[in-house]
Order: sequence, then C-alpha cells, then structure tokens
Amino acid sequence: MTPSESRRRPFIAGNWKMYKGPAEADALAEALKRTLTGQAQVDVAVAPPFLSIPTVVARLRHSGVHVAGQNLHPEPSGAFTGEISGEMLRQVGVTYCIVGHSERRALFGDTDSFVEKKVHACLRAGLLPILCVGETLDEREAGQADAVVSRQLAAALGKLSSDQLPSVTIAYEPVWAIGTGRVATPAQAQEMHATIRGWLAERYPAFVPRGMRILYGGSVKGSNAAGLLSQPDIDGALVGGASLVAEDFLAIVAAAK
Ligand code: PEP
Repeated sequence: MTPSESRRRPFIAGNWKMYKGPAEADALAEALKRTLTGQAQVDVAVAPPFLSIPTVVARLRHSGVHVAGQNLHPEPSGAFTGEISGEMLRQVGVTYCIVGHSERRALFGDTDSFVEKKVHACLRAGLLPILCVGETLDEREAGQADAVVSRQLAAALGKLSSDQLPSVTIAYEPVWAIGTGRVATPAQAQEMHATIRGWLAERYPAFVPRGMRILYGGSVKGSNAAGLLSQPDIDGALVGGASLVAEDFLAIVAAAK
C-alpha cells in the first residue's frame, strides 16, 4: 500500500478570519451544531476570532465540532502586548490552531522561523497545529512552487520527531487561490499534495506520511469540494469565505463524507 492509498478520516476546517463577533459567531455555531451534532464521518473545526472563541466553545460543547485558534504567540506568557498564547487558547477549550496562514506571512511578518516556533508552541500547549504552506502566483509561474513548499515544510517541521508529526495537519493553500475565487484544479492540488506526502515519506517512517492529513485551501465551495476531495492525497479542506455561511460550509462537510 502506498502512502496515498490508505484512507484518512476527512477533516474540514473553517477559518472565520476577522469576521463574526460573539453574537454572529454564536448564531453560526448554533446553525452548524444543529446539523453536525452526532455525525461521525468527518472531523470538523471552526476558527473564530479570539474574542468569539469562548462563546463558540460553549455553543459547540457536546457537538463534536472542534474550535481552533487562527494564530498564537510562541511564548506561554509575557510582555507581548496584543498577543494570545497557546496555553490561553487551551484554557478556553481550543483544540487546534492554524499556524503560518499566508495572510499572517504576508501582512504580519510571520517568517518561516517564527512559524516553526509557533508549531512547537502549539505542541507544548497541547494544541494540534494546522500548518499552512503554499506558493504565490509569481513563485508558481517561475516554476518554484515545489521548492517554496518544501522550504516551508523543512522550516516548520524539520525539528519534529516522528512521534510529534502525526499531531500536525498540513494545509496546502496556494496563495493565488485564497479569497480570489480562483481554485486550483483537482489535478494541480493533488500534484502538490503528493509532493508534500513524498517529502514526508523521504524523511520519516511510513506511518507518518500514511497517517498525516493534508488539507487543500483556496476558494473551496460546495460546488468544487467533491472534485478536490476525491483526490487520493487530499484529506479535507481549510475553508475561508465559504465557512461564514452555515449552508455553504455544511455542503463542503457533506461532500467530504
Ligand atoms: C483561507 O483563508 O484559508 C482560505 C482558504 O480562504 P478562501 O476559502 O476564502 O479562499
């Protein structure tokens, strides 16, 4: 059996970005809870803005839907004005945390080495990191997509042991597809997912690439999800815009079943 052939449990995560204050977040969580409580085929997580997290955690209790952070600071506490630590996220019931999202890399100066620190901080705090990697359009057109993604993987994961790696979910998010409506074709996405799994296979024992989930992110919608999710190395989706409307997000979860 090749690493691609074993079916991993699908995982759909919604990144609410800087949308949905507590009242709106509560309403969206309630709508998701109504449909998702008790379903056991797909792992589902939502990542509200920090301020809305306690409300969403309370609303989704006993639903089986996980709550994720969108970011964290690498230190557990300290004089870091405006920041939130992994320990704090854990204390309020968060289980996953997105790390290295391209918006953070491009707009907030998250470098490869800062992203690595955040991955380690997640694991120290007992959070499961969702590591985002992906190339820009210029990098793709220059034929550098594989090199960029490999560099990001090496920087973020290079010092983790085979025992730590399975706690990490990788999200391949080509920057040119995020929030643009321009989605990678299933074949383009599959090609990069296979490259990522191959990168893992070259460095770690077979159980690591076989078990790790690699999500695709970039303009995923109900209408394109099935094609992407049918690919052997695409184990789920990280969803931005379409996670803000319950029925749109639920259509993607349904496509993953
Ligand atoms: C994202 O923000 O991670 C994302 C994939 O956004 P969108 O689905 O809107 O492209």
